Amino acid sequence: MKSIYKYLLNTLPRPLLIRLSYIFKFFAPYLYRGNKVTCPVCEKSFSSFLSYGSSVAHRENVLCPYDLTLERHRLMWLYLKNESDFFTANKLKVLHIAPEQCFYSKFKAQKNLDYLTGDLESPLADLHFDLHHIPLEDNQFDVVFCNHVMEHVDDPIQCMTELFRVMKIGGWAIMQVPQDFSRETTYEDASITSPEDREKHFWQKDHVRLFGKDYPQWLEKSGFSVDVFELTNHYDQETIDKFRLMQGELLYIARKK
Ligand SMILES: [Zn+2]
Repeated sequence: MKSIYKYLLNTLPRPLLIRLSYIFKFFAPYLYRGNKVTCPVCEKSFSSFLSYGSSVAHRENVLCPYDLTLERHRLMWLYLKNESDFFTANKLKVLHIAPEQCFYSKFKAQKNLDYLTGDLESPLADLHFDLHHIPLEDNQFDVVFCNHVMEHVDDPIQCMTELFRVMKIGGWAIMQVPQDFSRETTYEDASITSPEDREKHFWQKDHVRLFGKDYPQWLEKSGFSVDVFELTNHYDQETIDKFRLMQGELLYIARKK
């Protein structure tokens, strides 16, 4: 049973996995019972997480078997819970682009959030639109999330500028992307178009670029001021290991000042 489970988690595409997640929620607590790792999002502990990722970016012990969180989801959750007023502020108007399943029902249930979701096609989205042209008025949102989107879009600067436009002054956004810290600058090559080549060069079949260390400058070019949340300054090694966070991962908080 455990090997079938592992096989499915490693071979099925993530969107399908997410649709089947009720199955995992049922079996995971039995199959992976233990106390070695803890997911702060579902607040459950397991003997281990599962491996995840394509052959070029494969990682062991990272995927929560219950709600399918990865390192980046757990990092963002810890930031929201421990470093921001997201769950405690009186009233926040939130725009969540490409909403992650593991966050969706939790954010939706938060009484202090006026929560709107948007996506090109996701069934979780309230509104369907292209991020290059957001059909919403200026200066509306206190908080914006748009994770793992900018590596897919034609023009990230235009998309970021659109998100900046719909945010209130004083608002903040989290826009995580896969980032290759061995690269000074972002790698783009319009001649790389086949899924196989894109996976080889940009880490996934549907990525059109691979951001480098210059990612925060893309946000700044779009109008944002960027604060960097450095994991290692806030959590000790024991906590990083327990939550299986990614060593050295940075969280950029993009502010509209
Ligand atoms: Zn979890």
